[in-house]
Amino acid sequence: MTSRSTYDVIIIGAGSVGVPAAMAMAQAGVKVLILDQFASSGQGSNKAAIGGIRATHSDPAKIRLTLKTLEIVKTWPKTHGHNIEWTTGGYSFVAYREQEEKTLKGLLEVQHAYGLNIDWLDKDELLEVIPDLNRDGLIGGTFSPQDGHCSTLLLGHALYDAAKAAGATFRFSEPVTGICVNNGRVAGVKSAKENYDAPVVINAAGPWARQVGGLLGFDHPVRPDSHEGGITEPVAHFLNPMVVDIRPAPGSANYYFFQLGTGQVVFCITPSPNIWGDDRRETSNFLPMVARRMVDLMPRLENIRVRRTWRGLYPMSPDGSPLVGWSREIEGYLMAIGMCGQGFMLGPGLGELLARVVTQDELDEKDQEVLDILSPYREFAGMEALK
Ligand SMILES: Cc1cc2nc3c(=O)[nH]c(=O)nc-3n(C[C@H](O)[C@H](O)[C@H](O)COP(=O)(O)OP(=O)(O)OC[C@H]3O[C@@H](n4cnc5c(N)ncnc54)[C@H](O)[C@@H]3O)c2cc1C
Repeated sequence: MTSRSTYDVIIIGAGSVGVPAAMAMAQAGVKVLILDQFASSGQGSNKAAIGGIRATHSDPAKIRLTLKTLEIVKTWPKTHGHNIEWTTGGYSFVAYREQEEKTLKGLLEVQHAYGLNIDWLDKDELLEVIPDLNRDGLIGGTFSPQDGHCSTLLLGHALYDAAKAAGATFRFSEPVTGICVNNGRVAGVKSAKENYDAPVVINAAGPWARQVGGLLGFDHPVRPDSHEGGITEPVAHFLNPMVVDIRPAPGSANYYFFQLGTGQVVFCITPSPNIWGDDRRETSNFLPMVARRMVDLMPRLENIRVRRTWRGLYPMSPDGSPLVGWSREIEGYLMAIGMCGQGFMLGPGLGELLARVVTQDELDEKDQEVLDILSPYREFAGMEALK
């Protein structure tokens, strides 16, 4: 891919998707420039994520991408040398009501069809895995032992280091203010400081993807949706899996938490109704709401002290799945947007797929299946069950 242009590919956004995509492209020999509006990588939604990575989805595209991510993160210390605090602690979706039991059991069929290691555990079996769960009313839950979690900040930085080592160029504090088009094809971008040429421009702008698409006259259906997270003081190790409770309650749809290898419990909650908008200032409602739910689920957490809370943005799509693919209207414009609550875990797997897409390597059937499912031109109908 050589041309007169300064770069082969320009990625707008050094976040959960842009950084691993830049790494995979640079490793494939692509001359890639990545621009971000903020002063360093991962300052958008990436740093707000709590670090959960699972392959146990109900959507085959997410399953394929996150299986790849798991492979990348699990072998990261060996392949690249950084400690990213990966823990194969598994994920457990717990059920205290028949509705959740039915939903979770219903998903096992597709999950097994894709070869995922996940099963239903009854109450006693689940308590062996998570002894501190509230026993009252517990029916059981799913457990997927191969899923896990790592440090968001360490993985983000490790990916950035590896991208730079492979030859990717990063420019920070450079908001992209224009995308240049010549005869129906992308020609480059304008930032607040400079102009750059490239035949391929990737929108990986996360919660700001709609504004970036707007530079070309598109109206991408991606809306920022506020979610808050928090972290406690470190305590002695007592919890392995990420615990997810999908029971709706007043003010929240679900919440999830796990214990880091360094002892802190990290948690977040999905507000209900959604809090649309790009305000990243944390509220005083979140902590009392999530604390009550977590202590109810795991009474042992009653006396743990919270050190910090924060607020970040999910880049929400209408059906809970990302939009990935080339524009049909403007040649060379590639979308990798709408990651919703899963961009951190999708990023590394998606980065490799995006590299194959731009190098026009042969895309195999599995890649094609992912791209068909995530097509930006699909009809937006249902919502994935475990979004
Ligand atoms: C509380 C919370 C917990 C979460 N927990 C998890 C989790 O456990 N696991 C998981 O997988 N996901 C989780 N997520 C979701 C995850 O954080 C997002 O899905 C993911 O970060 C989105 O990745 P992205 O690359 O699309 O966006 P971002 O990481 O936000 O990257 C987009 C980048 O584009 C840049 N940008 C935007 N516009 C411009 C422009 N005009 N010019 C230049 N740069 C621009 C931004 O500055 C930003 O750095 C969580 C989110 C929150 C808020």
